Amino acid sequence: MRNVVIIGSGCAGNTAALYTARANLLPLVVSGKEAGGQLSLTTLVENFPGFPEGINGPDLVANMRKQAENFGAQYLDGEVLDTDFSVRPFRINVEGEWIETRTVIIASGASARWLGLESEQKLIGHGVSSCATCDGFFYRNKSIMVVGGGDSAMEEANFLTRFGREVSLVHRRAEFRASKIMLNRAQHNPKIKFLLNTVVEEVYGVAHQMVSGVRLRNLKTDAVWDQEVDGFFVAIGHIPNTKVFKGQIETDPDGYILSKGGARTNITGIFHAGDVQDRVYRQAITAAGAGCMAAIEAERYLESEGH
Ligand SMILES: Cc1cc2nc3c(=O)[nH]c(=O)nc-3n(C[C@H](O)[C@H](O)[C@H](O)COP(=O)(O)OP(=O)(O)OC[C@H]3O[C@@H](n4cnc5c(N)ncnc54)[C@H](O)[C@@H]3O)c2cc1C
Repeated sequence: MRNVVIIGSGCAGNTAALYTARANLLPLVVSGKEAGGQLSLTTLVENFPGFPEGINGPDLVANMRKQAENFGAQYLDGEVLDTDFSVRPFRINVEGEWIETRTVIIASGASARWLGLESEQKLIGHGVSSCATCDGFFYRNKSIMVVGGGDSAMEEANFLTRFGREVSLVHRRAEFRASKIMLNRAQHNPKIKFLLNTVVEEVYGVAHQMVSGVRLRNLKTDAVWDQEVDGFFVAIGHIPNTKVFKGQIETDPDGYILSKGGARTNITGIFHAGDVQDRVYRQAITAAGAGCMAAIEAERYLESEGH
């Protein structure tokens, strides 16, 4: 029987592990398919406080894990395949084995949606990004492209005009899911050029490990052309990893966990941390902060139950 099982080993899960380990709760962290979480996909992280020269994403999460392990946190490779939160202790199925626990911290993140091109996948962290706040700064006076037609694409494109000399916004249709106000703002921004009814067929630069351009196709005219690009931002949404909690943990229509205040979910003893609940900030530091909150709440809950 475990005191705490933490689902996910990104910034939120690792921070929750550090705090619960230092509270002597001997937490078990289930790493998931993407050990280290989203930061393991990227290169330089310049906005996590404490590293004046920046730090590589994979090193940052590896350090967090080491720090948690130093205080007794245990890590289990594998994925949570099923859960039963209707009983106490709660039950969690990891790769076929059921684990029982008094509390759960869900830190399973939200995965960025990508276009799915092989070249795009190879260049993530090398000019391909899903986060303007994280990576916009690297593209001062450079040529930037944003893909998407929703609010987040408009927001990212507007934000990126602070850095880039030009921002091309590529959208496969001529109609937008974005709200009128966000679209209007982008349309009136002189640095943003709209490429409508257009798709990206390939991202160039794999050989040099740095984005250098893209091949585009106009779906109406079938015209194909190349465009030089330095920073390529995909803004077509995120998928919260909550499928295994469906019907038990309350989520919004997009699958993000609905917070009941602090780190609490609709089930007492089950807490949320990080991007799995946060559709607004989605940063390493906010996820780490949320991991700390969840750990403190789990510890106080266990204390109140006499454990
Ligand atoms: C390319 C890229 C660059 C970024 N750069 C920056 C940056 O420079 N600065 C910054 O602040 N932020 C950056 N971010 C955002 C930052 O990475 C996220 O905000 C942060 O990682 C969220 O942490 P998290 O722990 O909530 O979730 P995640 O990092 O997404 O971790 C989720 C974890 O849950 C696990 N998991 C999922 N489902 C299951 C399951 N069923 N069973 C078990 N485990 C499961 C996964 O394996 C993973 O370990 C970047 C993101 C990307 C994609």
